[in-house]
Amino acid sequence: MSESTTIRPLRAAEVSTWDQQADVVIAGYGIAGVCAAIEAARAGADVLILERTGGWGGAASMAGGFIYLGGGTPLQQALGFEDTPENMETFMLAAFGPGVDKAKIADYSRGSVEHYNWLVDCGVPFREAFWGEPGWEPPHDEGLMYSGGENSAPFNTLAVPAPRGHVPQMANKRTGAKGGGYMLMKPLVETAESLGVRVEYDIRIGRLVVDDDRVVGLTARRYGKEIAIRADRGVVLATGSFAYQKEMIEGYAPRLIGRPAAAIEEHDGIGIRLAHALGAQLAHMDATEVAFMADPQLMARGIVVNGRGQRYITEDTYPGRIGQATLIQQDNQSYLVIDEQSYEKALTTETATPFFRQPPTWVAETSAELEAEMGLPTRALQSTIEVYNLHAEQGRDPLLGKKPEWLRPLRGPLAAFDMRGFTAGFTLGGLRTDLDSRVLHVSGEPIAGLYAAGRCTSGLCAGGYASGASLGDGSFYGRRAGLAVAASSPSADRSSIQTHVRN
Ligand SMILES: Cc1cc2nc3c(=O)[nH]c(=O)nc-3n(C[C@H](O)[C@H](O)[C@H](O)COP(=O)(O)OP(=O)(O)OC[C@H]3O[C@@H](n4cnc5c(N)ncnc54)[C@H](O)[C@@H]3O)c2cc1C
Repeated sequence: MSESTTIRPLRAAEVSTWDQQADVVIAGYGIAGVCAAIEAARAGADVLILERTGGWGGAASMAGGFIYLGGGTPLQQALGFEDTPENMETFMLAAFGPGVDKAKIADYSRGSVEHYNWLVDCGVPFREAFWGEPGWEPPHDEGLMYSGGENSAPFNTLAVPAPRGHVPQMANKRTGAKGGGYMLMKPLVETAESLGVRVEYDIRIGRLVVDDDRVVGLTARRYGKEIAIRADRGVVLATGSFAYQKEMIEGYAPRLIGRPAAAIEEHDGIGIRLAHALGAQLAHMDATEVAFMADPQLMARGIVVNGRGQRYITEDTYPGRIGQATLIQQDNQSYLVIDEQSYEKALTTETATPFFRQPPTWVAETSAELEAEMGLPTRALQSTIEVYNLHAEQGRDPLLGKKPEWLRPLRGPLAAFDMRGFTAGFTLGGLRTDLDSRVLHVSGEPIAGLYAAGRCTSGLCAGGYASGASLGDGSFYGRRAGLAVAASSPSADRSSIQTHVRN
């Protein structure tokens, strides 16, 4: 059978035997799945999670662990930062667009403090310490950091800057290998399992099963055998992004061709495709998070220029914002230029990403020589440095708004790093859902029995991004999915369904 056939929904009448049954069936045991499971189980539902791999965690357990929270969380307050839901909403509307789901952003900002308390109640640890240096992550186990450019131009003029990157405490972490995401997932998994949530591993969901217009279950494959699983109250899709689905990347988010990152190979878009085949709406399929493989301590002290030698973004902002601007607006052409004094200073600082501190590609005594070494047209880089220095001497950056603390004229020997093509990322687009995580049909109506959360949905970010937005909306709307599906009426009287478990 071709994949285009197998992706289509199956009619319930064609299912001869239901091999398993639960009130709520959740596909995927990452951040959205575990949060859906906890809330559904607490509401009294019998919950079954189906996970493709041999263990829980998904991308979430490998993540750095930023959770984007604010509005005055106890951690923000303990560390002396003022924030309100309205302030958080203002920032998110400005930074996460264009085209954000305004209702979701208002809802998320207002629910953020409660969500923080819920995570803490589930056992997620946050250390009361703030990391205020430029960086991708705190290098130690600090619990709070700016993670979206809130304190940089242009956002520091639009909303009161407040750090919202909340990181679960993790000892001896290593960026990209062992991070706070594990300490987010572990207590949540323990909570789910203490509530009696059942989990089946090494099982891969296949097709949605529908009865009239309602989703009543799904099929799955395990060790080559197809089985059918009945979901009396509904199915929650929590299978992650489409970063690793070649055709979808080519069709929807071609800037990411050949450059997936911060995702796992199981992120093959299956949840999106299954629901789309049922008529679900998609949103912001072109939106992408973009990592830029440079050390923020170096960037803040230097200038980042495009293929024409011109600055295009303030260098002291969230490095993911620099990545997006580079990939999407500058055709992935970028160089980092710094003088010897600032370079030496940057190397004395702490960083979570020492592997991004590679030797420079070119060094020269003057900007004219550096420009020639880099192969840039005469005076393209020289004029950029001249204008930057002119204003930096006055402690200003009228072009891009870099903060005075990072402004110093670039003088003496100079170095440049070739950053062309140094970006990678994951997809942010997916199923359009409402505030109860119900999957919306193209008609605008919810599809009965079908819920989704996490990176298989279009969440808070429609274009811009902040670190923590994925674990943030995945956990928040995972919970909503769990609450809503548990509260829905069953699709049929259980006793009328003939079931047995195959041997
Ligand atoms: C190194 C790294 C660092 C990151 N840092 C951050 C960060 O600091 N903050 C942040 O917000 N985000 C971060 N992310 C991204 C974030 O982890 C993900 O976007 C997030 O986990 C998505 O949540 P999810 O529930 O949709 O997917 P996941 O957490 O990946 O869970 C999806 C689960 O579904 C399973 N699955 C897939 N297909 C099937 C199928 N057919 N049948 C059954 N199960 C299936 C997968 O195996 C997986 O377990 C990072 C990611 C990585 C890898």
